[in-house]
Amino acid sequence: MKIGFIGLGNMGGPMARNLAAAGHQVAGFDLAAPQIEGVTPAASAAEAAAGAEVVITMLPNGQILRAVAAEVIPAMAAGAVLCDCSTVDVDSARAVAEQAVAAGLGALDAPVSGGVGGAAGGTLTFMVGGSDAAFATVSPLFDIMGQKAVHCGESGAGQAAKICNNMILGVTMIATCEAFALADKLGLDRQKMFDVVSTSSGYSWSMNAYCPAPGVGPTSPADNGYKPGFAAELMLKDLRLSQQAAESADADTPMGQLAAALYTEFVENEDGRGQDFSAMLPRLSARGR
Ligand code: NAD
Repeated sequence: MKIGFIGLGNMGGPMARNLAAAGHQVAGFDLAAPQIEGVTPAASAAEAAAGAEVVITMLPNGQILRAVAAEVIPAMAAGAVLCDCSTVDVDSARAVAEQAVAAGLGALDAPVSGGVGGAAGGTLTFMVGGSDAAFATVSPLFDIMGQKAVHCGESGAGQAAKICNNMILGVTMIATCEAFALADKLGLDRQKMFDVVSTSSGYSWSMNAYCPAPGVGPTSPADNGYKPGFAAELMLKDLRLSQQAAESADADTPMGQLAAALYTEFVENEDGRGQDFSAMLPRLSARGR
């Protein structure tokens, strides 16, 4: 398949490389002009998109996506599919899809879970919004870049799934960290706390798979000085997207709102920037009421 790939950063670079390694013809564009094995560099986003059957974008945010889409959509061949894999706000995802469909193209929002390890290893999970036909066209590419693609519904449904998932993650990570901080002050051993909670009703991915306490549970960023992993500022980005969506959909999300406020404080006014999002544990441990 002829593929245009725009945004060849930490995630997009390895995703494009995997598509090329599987035998697809990939033309890539990124403002930073990185060299990606097997990917033919294009001089612009429009050049990467021209003549491609599928154009994939993997960009920092919704504003940049809207700008790139405005350049790329007129350059795309009739019937081609624009597939955005970035994590962006639901409104931008829907606006870009509407423009693409109005121009006679297919459109998908297909954000991912799995991080840079998943991108390199081709084991991402895709959460996808858009038409059945567009999903069917891009499915073979999802199979190369990832291990699972869930078709969640119409345009915007992929981004909705992503931010709802990550809102749960932010809230459960904070809850897990504050429970450890309380347990410490009650004199409960952290390993005993893990042994109980990980097999009781307080268990979660944050406790069982990504335990924020160093030396406890499976290996996680806590065991590596809280080097990310999943950076606190990326969690903050996703929590803000969830609150923006809640505002625009008039949904009551008090826990998500509080999680966003705590990560804002941590990243902007404390030492959270550059630390893993599970470093909420030492932050809370250092405090009293
Ligand atoms: P990144 O900053 O490494 O990559 C983004 C790339 O886009 C950069 O190389 C940048 O030069 C390029 N770019 C910016 N503006 C451009 C433009 N106008 N035209 C062409 N290229 C442009 O970020 P990343 O970690 O690869 O993340 C990309 C997206 O994936 C984000 O939306 C992020 O939220 C999401 N995501 C990241 C992770 C992760 O663990 N890194 C996990 C899941 C989802």
